[in-house]
Amino acid sequence: MKYYDKLIFDLSKEGRQGYSLPANKWEALVSELPAGLLRAEAPALPQVSELDVVRHYTNLSQMNFGVDSGFYPLGSCTMKYNPKINEEIAAMPAFAGLHPLQPAGTVQGVLRLYKELSHALSEITGMAEFTLDPFAGAHGELTGLMIIRQYHMSRGDLKRTKVIVPDSAHGTNPASAAVCGLEIVQVKSKENGLVDVEDLKPLLDDTIAGIMMTNPNTLGLFEKDIKEIAALVHDCGGLLYYDGANMNPLIGMVRPGDMGFDVLHLNLHKSFSTPHGGGGPGSGPVGVAAHLAQHLPVPKVVEDEDGLLHVVGDDPMTCGQISGFMGNFGVLLRAYTYILMLGKQNVRMVGPLAVLGANYIKESLKDCYKLPIESVCKHEFVFDGLLDQSTGVTTLDIAKRLLDYGFHAPTIYFPLLFHQAIMIEPTETESKETLDGFIEIMRHIAAEAISDPESLKTAPHTTPVRRLDETTAARQPVLKVKDMN
Ligand SMILES: *Cc1c(COP(=O)(O)O)cnc(C)c1O
Repeated sequence: MKYYDKLIFDLSKEGRQGYSLPANKWEALVSELPAGLLRAEAPALPQVSELDVVRHYTNLSQMNFGVDSGFYPLGSCTMKYNPKINEEIAAMPAFAGLHPLQPAGTVQGVLRLYKELSHALSEITGMAEFTLDPFAGAHGELTGLMIIRQYHMSRGDLKRTKVIVPDSAHGTNPASAAVCGLEIVQVKSKENGLVDVEDLKPLLDDTIAGIMMTNPNTLGLFEKDIKEIAALVHDCGGLLYYDGANMNPLIGMVRPGDMGFDVLHLNLHKSFSTPHGGGGPGSGPVGVAAHLAQHLPVPKVVEDEDGLLHVVGDDPMTCGQISGFMGNFGVLLRAYTYILMLGKQNVRMVGPLAVLGANYIKESLKDCYKLPIESVCKHEFVFDGLLDQSTGVTTLDIAKRLLDYGFHAPTIYFPLLFHQAIMIEPTETESKETLDGFIEIMRHIAAEAISDPESLKTAPHTTPVRRLDETTAARQPVLKVKDMN
């Protein structure tokens, strides 16, 4: 039996103790409790020493893979290192002990932080104002689309019910548009992976509420025609929505506001170093150009003439309320810490270094892996499986084999434009040595595909569980030991 097959209960030995309360104090406490609340018998807790407990949970924690334990090149997801100072700041009692219903007068510093983070994000993106209320990227998309809808409705322009979404878009884009009650119209990509402007033109009329674009797009390519697209969409009366979940490569280089975008969301849990994974908590702030500021959701933070900050809970022009309070404050705090720790000078280095790392890996591997679109990429790029596909080794096999070598697998089978898509994003915080180590292993795997394809098809070999059924692992996860037996 391996340690991970054991429950803490399996380690129990009658009479073993991890910790005991001083008997005199304990008895005094018990005697004060009403008899009706006392247990007749002690609960069936495991009887273990402190060392048993520490080893058990430390070992379990290492069965998982995290950015703190190894390289995590997950494309379209920016698994960026989470600086530990973020955690130190977020754990400070003055922040951790806040209550969301505290009167504004007692939380002026917190409201100031809300304002200052909004301001920093406006500077970075070229937008006029931000709301920090949304809890995730997709939630930000919904908020942004609600703002767009509110804008058209407030002008009495009620025909605009369609949103254009490129075929390369992240799945949340059409999903958010549908949740917002908008109709989705798809625009095609060209051979080179960029939005086809000729395909877009005939779609533009007075029923278009806007277009959702990702730039760089989900192939990691910069949409070079963005200025022309912006002009075309604006001329037909639509607005431009920017999916800035993966803003990382642009940070410090270019600003969506300057490209002509009217609304955007960012993922603080991707580009701004807050923890990402396990389903949250995340944060998807939404920025808008000046003409849309009045439609931002409530509650809003506003400043009076005396410099005091207030929370405004209603506004006739707002798109509505999208979160219980004002976002995931602990996440906002971490992102704010990250921006301040980098400072203006170093924030400018984020994008260029992310782009350099991605291109370095791409160029170092393109003689073994199929690069479907030859181009300078931004923060990520997509291979279409191995160059030599005669061995029958698939992208899934490569991803599983990487686990044996201590790397998290990249994103696979997304975007849907290629059959064997493998999408790699290193982020700017990785050293050249880490990138070189990854390149070496990827080359080694390509060689193994020829010399020993079986070792790839049966990978992983070193992980606590081997190759799982992809569907049932997600849809019917076995989370209880009882189900395993
Ligand atoms: C991650 C991502 C999203 C969705 O963000 P969530 O926080 O997971 O809701 C949207 N668009 C793109 C391009 C993304 O990469």
